[in-house]
Amino acid sequence: MEDDRSAELATVHSEIIACTKCELHKSRKNAVPGEGPIDAKIMFVGEGPGQNEDEQGRPFVGAAGKLLTELLESIGIKRSDVFITNVVKCRPPSNRAPRKGEIETCNPYLMSQIRLVKPRIVCALGTPAIATLLGEEYSATRVHGKPTSKGDVTILPMYHPAAALYDASLKEVLASDFRILRNLLTDTSMHDRHVVKDEQETQRETLEKWV
Ligand code: URA
Repeated sequence: MEDDRSAELATVHSEIIACTKCELHKSRKNAVPGEGPIDAKIMFVGEGPGQNEDEQGRPFVGAAGKLLTELLESIGIKRSDVFITNVVKCRPPSNRAPRKGEIETCNPYLMSQIRLVKPRIVCALGTPAIATLLGEEYSATRVHGKPTSKGDVTILPMYHPAAALYDASLKEVLASDFRILRNLLTDTSMHDRHVVKDEQETQRETLEKWV
């Protein structure tokens, strides 16, 4: 079962690496599908690869990634235990924000990753990820730290770590939202949520409602 999911995820990642569905593929060095264990309980979704990520083909390997790793460690979680990806898998030129059409074109990849990894909690980092997962009217300023259930998945919106690199006051806000993440994980009522008869089917139906 887990082997099947790993194999399907590997296929999705190969498709991302070969993807030419939007303009972003033209300027990329490497697509950045994302990384982490197939059974990760937590998934982080950022905005899109930056220069370092584009060069290495891995998510969150620059300064924002270092802060993300530190925030995880502050609540006793290893980076290698979480799945990390982005709403768009190729770097927008000059680090501009990804466009609506690019996010929509890339969205089936993200939905497949959520369906296959089946995280209990998806942390949406920054407004583009929050708007993608919750709806366009939501922003980090309005909803950070407020978990929302979407079927079997809990979406936890947060500020993007890069925002805290520019505005130091946001670092404590982020740290506090990571403590909410830790509390959600220890909330035992969440532990049984995936124990349903055909959990994969249930989750697929749920995710289809989002898109
Ligand atoms: N910022 C993002 O949103 N994603 C990355 O992978 C790196 C920086």
